[in-house]
Amino acid sequence: MKLTGIAAAPGYAWGHAFLLEQAKEVERIQLRPEKSTEEVARFTAAVEQAVSQLKELQERTRATMGLDYAEIFESHIMVLKDEEFVGRAKELIVGQLINAEAALSDVTQELVQFFESMDNVYMNERAADFRDISKRLHGLLTGSEQLSLCDLDGPVVLIAHDLTPSDSAQLERERVAGFAANIGGSMSHSAIMARSMEIPAVVGLKNATSSLNNGDFVILDGVKGELLINPTAEQVSAYRKAKETYERQREESKAYLYAPSVTADGKIVELAANIGNPADAVHARNNGAEGIGLFRTELLFMGRRNWPTEEEQFYAYKLAAEAFGGMSPIVIRTLDIGGDKELDYAKRPRERNPFLGYRAIRLSLDERDRFKAQLRAILRASAFGNVKIMFPMIATLQELRAAKALLAEAKADLDAIGVNYRHRMEVGIMIEVPAAALISDQLAKEADFFSIGTNDLVQFTMAADRTNEKLSHLTDPIHPAVLRLIRLVIDNGHKEGKWVSLCGEMAGDLAAIPIMLGLGLDRFSMNAGAVLPARIALSAITAAQTKEMAEAALRMESSDEVRDYVHAIMPHLRELFQIRR
Ligand code: PEP
Ligand code: MG
Repeated sequence: MKLTGIAAAPGYAWGHAFLLEQAKEVERIQLRPEKSTEEVARFTAAVEQAVSQLKELQERTRATMGLDYAEIFESHIMVLKDEEFVGRAKELIVGQLINAEAALSDVTQELVQFFESMDNVYMNERAADFRDISKRLHGLLTGSEQLSLCDLDGPVVLIAHDLTPSDSAQLERERVAGFAANIGGSMSHSAIMARSMEIPAVVGLKNATSSLNNGDFVILDGVKGELLINPTAEQVSAYRKAKETYERQREESKAYLYAPSVTADGKIVELAANIGNPADAVHARNNGAEGIGLFRTELLFMGRRNWPTEEEQFYAYKLAAEAFGGMSPIVIRTLDIGGDKELDYAKRPRERNPFLGYRAIRLSLDERDRFKAQLRAILRASAFGNVKIMFPMIATLQELRAAKALLAEAKADLDAIGVNYRHRMEVGIMIEVPAAALISDQLAKEADFFSIGTNDLVQFTMAADRTNEKLSHLTDPIHPAVLRLIRLVIDNGHKEGKWVSLCGEMAGDLAAIPIMLGLGLDRFSMNAGAVLPARIALSAITAAQTKEMAEAALRMESSDEVRDYVHAIMPHLRELFQIRR
């Protein structure tokens, strides 16, 4: 049996399935009235114990994974201090004279149903928080050992409805060969954690937990996003081959870790990584990235209950800058909220077309104080590395000017209190709106650099929602229409002496790399796992060859034609494709 989901972290794993969440029947006991005070006290003691466990976990996570992961536990602690959850359970114990476990189960069910029924993925994710907290409390109340992933007799393939933050904090590469979840997308907590720990993972499988039994033999394909349950001998041998090739290529690619990113005829480019938190920066550096080409700061704002302070942000940006240190560029993008990225605490009205909505820089320019706090945090971090700032979703010159004016105010705030920052910090913009590409000649006069965001540029150019799987034939960034816009942006940037980067997923797409290079792109920023394959691909081509390829691609009639053409010229790319993401 084969289940298909979303490839969340690359690689292959096989072994016996370990079902993390086995629904247990909660014992329901009717209390005598005089027992309720005792029961409330038992519940309160469990809550206090949970808080101290969470504080310990928070400390451990802060040290190993960085501030934003630790923040998840802070939000759990807040829930345990909040009457909405704890008070309601106590009310049920006293009002309905039921035991603490039953009251806990009822409150959890109420809240989980409430959050899951909301038409907002981020609210839906809060349901997972309540399940996690409830599981911990239930373990403490019943004295049953919390399942410790550290004690797993692995390696196993972990199968869960979702992997909670506390579960993730206990994962160990030696014991967990792979991880599969019923829910989640490539941006869910579990996917982010799996990628940063390099544990192959597939999420969004819908019914993995109900399709297999503990101990079933499974194969997890984190490249295609599949889970095979009790596979045939032929399937096992095919996957063994794929895994061997994958691992051999990864081993071989390590020879390129400290090599320069250079074509066969000596053209040097920069291969940087996209990150969402400081821990990713360390991972990126260890995977050969030459800097950070895109720090998606909104990920620091997500998975929590309130806005991060300037201080918290400063700490995260500084950590990322320090992970590279010295001259390596660290491009920090200001908040890009909206589209498919919402903050549950921001309470924004629903929009008909969120991707075309009130988002990113449009929002920041109105939320001046919050925006300036972020700008000050980035400026302060610039004293610790080669930090550059980048504004998302710029569509007009006026937006760029307004953002720069606020940056000047943020600098004045710091000057007034004598705080040090990089005075000549470069200020760039994302080119993701076709309007910005079309006026890139004007924008190039006022921005220090461009970074082309093809994930959005493609969806706006092709009028095809990037999250709609039915439109995937329209959202291949290698389409000549998009390539023509990219060429325009690069040419206009270069005419003003500005460097041009590309940080959409396309940057790590091996078939697209020769074309982008041929169009004159200076820098690439991609997911960390794609850096070494990209460096290998570069070493096998000449700049002259890529120029010819780009010219030909611009004249082609479809993205398929461009892909077939690149593969025909560079057949070895197909092999390397396995380790593309
Ligand atoms: C892009 O649009 O290409 C991009 C890099 O930004 P994001 O994916 O965060 O929208
Ligand atoms: Mg974008």
